[in-house]
Amino acid sequence: MQDIQNIVILTGAGISAESGIATFRGPGGLWEGHRVEEVCTPEALAHDPDLVHRFYDLRRAALANVVPNAAHDALARLDREWSGELLIVTQNVDDLHERAGATRMLHMHGELNSALCAACDTRVAWRESLPPGSACATCGAEALRPDIVFFGEMPYRMEVIERALSRADLFVSIGTSGAVYPAAGFVQTARYHGAQTLELNLEPSAGSVYFSEVRLGAAGVLVPEWVEALLTQA
Ligand code: NAD
Repeated sequence: MQDIQNIVILTGAGISAESGIATFRGPGGLWEGHRVEEVCTPEALAHDPDLVHRFYDLRRAALANVVPNAAHDALARLDREWSGELLIVTQNVDDLHERAGATRMLHMHGELNSALCAACDTRVAWRESLPPGSACATCGAEALRPDIVFFGEMPYRMEVIERALSRADLFVSIGTSGAVYPAAGFVQTARYHGAQTLELNLEPSAGSVYFSEVRLGAAGVLVPEWVEALLTQA
């Protein structure tokens, strides 16, 4: 790998699998036993807010029992030591990248540890359970919801991501199935702008053919190896 300055990394549920957080398309294509339509759509929130809030309450509470793994640690090391531009874009709603120490990152699908006011769009850090009807401290509306981007909603920070992809020399996708857009299309955007593209995944993703290189294996092994090689060559 030559002449690499600017790197964009996309991570998905697979990078947190070895920490003990279930992936989305685990056995049966369910997320912790639920179909996405039940817990990850605006319609579900409107029709059964108790179920949706409880689902994310459980996911938030489960964060207390997990720790970052070697893949999160390796990306945090890259964040500290890489002198060029770096942006880690995660689709994950857990907080394992930041707990490992990564700072040049963003959550494009929201965060478990955040609540969003559906009335005034104010966000607030949230670590406890979040019952439906919780009041927003800013506007008073009883409209706080999990700060999660549901299917059909616009992912966060797309302008920042698009700008980084247009400048990237290297795009790396880690542990994502490539089934959820727009993230699944980032590889094509990066290629269009001339970036090298690398997939690190347990199995080939839906978009594997678009990558110039694919390495298959566990993120906890592949990511530290890749980071070590990149920093040694730089
Ligand atoms: P996904 O569940 O659709 O796909 C997971 C991918 O990870 C698969 O391609 C699988 O081969 C790979 N994988 C599994 N174990 C791995 C390992 N040990 N090492 C490397 N790769 C491994 O996940 P997605 O593509 O991220 O899409 C799911 C959506 O669900 C996301 O938008 C996300 O917000 C949400 N989600 C988040 C979490 C989380 O925050 N940890 C967990 C589940 C779902």
